[in-house]
Amino acid sequence: MAVWVRDLKIRQQVQLVTLGPLFALLCAIAVLFYAYWMAHLSDRAVRRSEQSLAGSEQLLREITDMYSSVRAYLLLRDPALLSPYDQESPAVQEQLALLRDLESDSPSQVADIDAVREEVRKWQIEWARPTINRVRRGDVTDAAAVVADGEKRMAALRGRVQDLLQSDKLENDAITIRTQQAMRHMLELGVGLSLLVGAALLFLTGVVTRMITQPVEQLIEASERVSRGDFQLSLPPPASNEFGVLSQSFAHMTTALRNEREELAALNKFSEAVTQCTSEVEVYDHILHSLKERFQPQQVIIFILKSSENFLEAAASLVPLAENVRAWPVIEEPHNCKAVRMGRPFRVNDVSIEPLCPANFLPPSLGSYFCGPLIAGGIIIGAVRLEGLKDYWTPERVSLLEGYLSGAATALSNLRLLQTMKQQANVDELTGIYNRRFLEDYARKLLAMASRKNTSVSLIMMDLDHFKSFNDLHGHEIGDRILRHFAKTMSLTMRETNLAARFGGEEFVVLLPDTNAKACMLVAERIRRAVERMIVPSGTDKPLPKITVSLGIAVYPEHGRSLEELLSASDKALYESKRLGRNRATLYAEQAEPAG
Ligand code: GH3
Ligand code: MG
Ligand code: MG
Repeated sequence: MAVWVRDLKIRQQVQLVTLGPLFALLCAIAVLFYAYWMAHLSDRAVRRSEQSLAGSEQLLREITDMYSSVRAYLLLRDPALLSPYDQESPAVQEQLALLRDLESDSPSQVADIDAVREEVRKWQIEWARPTINRVRRGDVTDAAAVVADGEKRMAALRGRVQDLLQSDKLENDAITIRTQQAMRHMLELGVGLSLLVGAALLFLTGVVTRMITQPVEQLIEASERVSRGDFQLSLPPPASNEFGVLSQSFAHMTTALRNEREELAALNKFSEAVTQCTSEVEVYDHILHSLKERFQPQQVIIFILKSSENFLEAAASLVPLAENVRAWPVIEEPHNCKAVRMGRPFRVNDVSIEPLCPANFLPPSLGSYFCGPLIAGGIIIGAVRLEGLKDYWTPERVSLLEGYLSGAATALSNLRLLQTMKQQANVDELTGIYNRRFLEDYARKLLAMASRKNTSVSLIMMDLDHFKSFNDLHGHEIGDRILRHFAKTMSLTMRETNLAARFGGEEFVVLLPDTNAKACMLVAERIRRAVERMIVPSGTDKPLPKITVSLGIAVYPEHGRSLEELLSASDKALYESKRLGRNRATLYAEQAEPAG
């Protein structure tokens, strides 16, 4: 029953509840109408029965009157007394006709009335009439005997009428009992039916109300849980009505929400992970791994735009690239890559029928592919190509994939920015060589290492000679040009392991790891000579005068164990070079310190 009701449509469930009372009302009306009709019928029957009883009594009186008039005539011989008889007892006949009419529905009563009529007729023909005639003729001598005979006959007639009266009374009683019984039955039936219908209605209303409210309550509870982020659903049991449809669509919606949440969480995790990467290669690994996990592609290739060289390089791939392209994995003209050219995704749903990307870089022979640009801050830094099954790229997947690519592009761009910033923080803007801060950091590390390894480190401090008057003479810009040329000349003169830095103004320092004083003096001399030979274009017909540099050398650990000590020592040696006439290199010596 409950299952049957549960599967009904809501409209039908409501109808079930509302039709019940309607049915009960109709039943009550029908019972009332039936009771009224029964009461009406029995009332009519009672009235008829009473009428017929009264009629029968009247008949008895009429017959008695009739007999009395004949008897009186017999005894008194007065013809005036015979008037009822002369009129053939019209009152008796009339009463008989009336009774017959009243009892027309009851054949037995009609038969009884007919029998009375016959008796009346017989009494008249067989006794009254002959007796009257004999009285008229004067044949009657013993009137008492005739009267006694008439009395006897009349008794029979009266008996008939009494029977009629008795049967009328019996019928009257029977009708009364029948009516009472019928009314009692009606009452019993009405009360019983009301109780039954009431109980059924109560049960049905309860069932239907529960059927309607229970799924609603369960759905409310489920939606509250979902809003709290709990996706463990307990939904109403499946039903084939609106609640079933609602419950099903709620389950679908929740599944979609959960999937979306999981996907968003995965995307967030990815974005967070790539943000924490410290190298581009690490970012590539995350991209490949995450895209493989989420989209199960057959191949993923990450292209990076090398703007300086004007090509797109396949920097990483999920499946190793074919051997023939591995040595030179590039798309030579970046504009051939549609995603890079248009700055938006390019997709081929079926490579066997649709035109492919003009870049034509190892195109897949089956399925589909999607190529999305890596854009950060409006700048294209590369593209990622995913190869998958035919028609794989639904709008939802594309949108999710774009989220991954955006996160990856931002991470890559941030890394580059960080690298640039780091570089900028360590590099001198004017000359492009390291600045003093970097030199100091590097020197401390180098000295610590030299201390552990027990090796020596040399430091050359340099200062351009008479640079102030040079500046004053040729202008600041020419001065800057000299500084740039000097930095370049100095860098070219040294080994790669040596580090040159601008210490400030027109002062420079070179650090030479694992180098002793003698070797350092050679390097210093090489620099000095290179600067001497250096030609700086003046921009005019007039060449610039030669520039020279003075150098001071200090060596770890002989001249100092800390950077400060070494700098101070080299500065003193430099001062010595200046003092001795400039354009020379001087090794720090204790005795070089000016007295006092
Ligand atoms: P000395 O041979 O004794 O070193 O003489 P000097 O003229 O070089 O004296 P000093 O080292 O005191 O002069 C430093 C000058 O270097 C002062 C300033 O005009 C110049 N200078 C410092 N930084 C810059 C720079 O960035 N650009 C230019 N053009 N000149 C600079
Ligand atoms: Mg100076
Ligand atoms: Mg100087």
